[in-house]
Amino acid sequence: MLLKTDGLVIREKGTGESDRFVTLLTRDYGVLYAFARGARSLKSEKQSGTQLFAYADFTVSRGKDAYIVTEARVREVFFKLREDVEHLALSQYFCELTGLLAPQETPAEEYLSVLLNALYLLSSGKRPQPFLKAVLELRLMSISGYMPDLVGCAKCGTYESAEMFFDRREGCLYCPDCAEHGEPLTPGVLAAMRHICFAEPKKLFSFTLSDAGLQKLAVLTEGYMHTHLNHYFKTLQFYNQIKTQ
Ligand SMILES: [Zn+2]
Repeated sequence: MLLKTDGLVIREKGTGESDRFVTLLTRDYGVLYAFARGARSLKSEKQSGTQLFAYADFTVSRGKDAYIVTEARVREVFFKLREDVEHLALSQYFCELTGLLAPQETPAEEYLSVLLNALYLLSSGKRPQPFLKAVLELRLMSISGYMPDLVGCAKCGTYESAEMFFDRREGCLYCPDCAEHGEPLTPGVLAAMRHICFAEPKKLFSFTLSDAGLQKLAVLTEGYMHTHLNHYFKTLQFYNQIKTQ
């Protein structure tokens, strides 16, 4: 059986003399693990389409024990991401998180679209790192079943006040009158969180927030993710060690 779909190489490992074992995030089949025979040979037609961050049209066949990449026609390689160590580290984290949350062998169009847009905006410098990190974390959490309830105060329904409180374990909001605990949110940070959770896909990356607000937002979305995913992200730890923003 041959599968044809576009997708992104989110992980790549050399194996054998010149083979690669790749993890693909594909539009039509979600996460696929596949061998690309001879792909590390410079003469191979699959060489550039099976490297990390390559976005390509893939043809994949189902072998006895694993999938095999038979064709990889490159559309984009995001080469600029490799020129900056922070961009590289953050991109690897984006790939690790998306690979963990996206479904396997099931369509994953929105996951692919969020990740491709985040990599594009990062490599072109069009959005700051905390912005992209917060959007990717909270949006992917939301579409994979961990959407927090941000409609209003969980007790009285209040939609907005000068300060609201976010309970990261319960994934809900409290107004100042009802809050017994939780992290304080400014109206700007709360509006950004609501946008990330509720915006239609095309408008996901279209909002603004102050630099200070973005820093808070990125810390908050990371905390929310850690609270609900029992996973140690080596790539994130590395990024947090080296980042300057
Ligand atoms: Zn309340």
